[in-house]
Amino acid sequence: MSDSPTAGAVVIDGKAIARAVRNQVAKDAARLSSERGVTPCLAVVLVGDDPGSRIYVTNKEKAAAEAGIATRDHRLPASTTEADLTRLIRSLNDDRQVHGILVQLPLPDQIDTRTVLELVSPNKDVDGFHPLNVGLLHMGRPRFVACTPRGVMEMLRFHEIPLSGRRAVVIGRSNIVGRPMAALLEQANATVSICHSRTADLPGEARSADILVAAIGKARFVRGDWIKPGAVVIDVGINRTDDGKLAGDVHFEEARERAGYITPVPGGVGPMTIAMLLANTILAAEQASA
Ligand code: NAD
Repeated sequence: MSDSPTAGAVVIDGKAIARAVRNQVAKDAARLSSERGVTPCLAVVLVGDDPGSRIYVTNKEKAAAEAGIATRDHRLPASTTEADLTRLIRSLNDDRQVHGILVQLPLPDQIDTRTVLELVSPNKDVDGFHPLNVGLLHMGRPRFVACTPRGVMEMLRFHEIPLSGRRAVVIGRSNIVGRPMAALLEQANATVSICHSRTADLPGEARSADILVAAIGKARFVRGDWIKPGAVVIDVGINRTDDGKLAGDVHFEEARERAGYITPVPGGVGPMTIAMLLANTILAAEQASA
């Protein structure tokens, strides 16, 4: 464990926890190969040339390769039609060698994102975005869970942070982060509030939290005096500031003075997201070969 003790909070080392998850993934991949003759395989689909998306996709493919997961790289031009993409996804759904399918978002305007995500086989839905997997999660029967909230739960588990009976506040209600995050915390027996842009007294709600998760998309929005002393602060945000640096949704320097635990940006939740994508790919390969 590589916590760095500070004046205030323990800074949660997402890189180290992600490394531990990736080591386990590599062991699982080797076991699947030796016991079942299966090489887990992730198909990665990128449409267009958004520089951020290109970096994400390259990082995901590199991490997969390091863990012994094969990748199929499908990079399509920005002019790709929905019909072309539909054909590709159907062929990946039918391909028995492919266990997981990741469609990098955002997609270009001419393609309806919801249609495409619903086309991905729920059995290969390693991002956990298909309505069937979303429904299973909300029924308390999680199968493929969105990678970022799953990664946050892994961080909390790693530090043995108790959740049962504690108050958790999630700021943000996106389908990718906020909603699945709240569902997972509730299923771990926390009492959960979801806050959003219309919440009346956001600082007051935040101050009630033993566990505070910020998934807003606004740099340094959560201030130090919003933090209950000793709270666990999980910062999901990744924002570019005017000076080109990365910043989370939480004002880190202020919040660390009051928090018990805090995640930094970068080096917090971000590395966990990729690690959990790999873990979900192993799950898909295990289920397909069971
Ligand atoms: P989103 O834009 O879909 O959702 C943002 C949410 O924040 C919305 O539900 C909105 O109601 C809420 N919000 C916006 N303004 C608010 C305000 N003033 N007060 C209270 N709530 C407000 O974003 P998202 O996809 O959930 O991502 C959130 C952040 O997390 C972004 O910075 C994104 O880059 C980052 N992110 C990081 C990872 C990772 O791996 N670390 C993964 C996904 C997203």
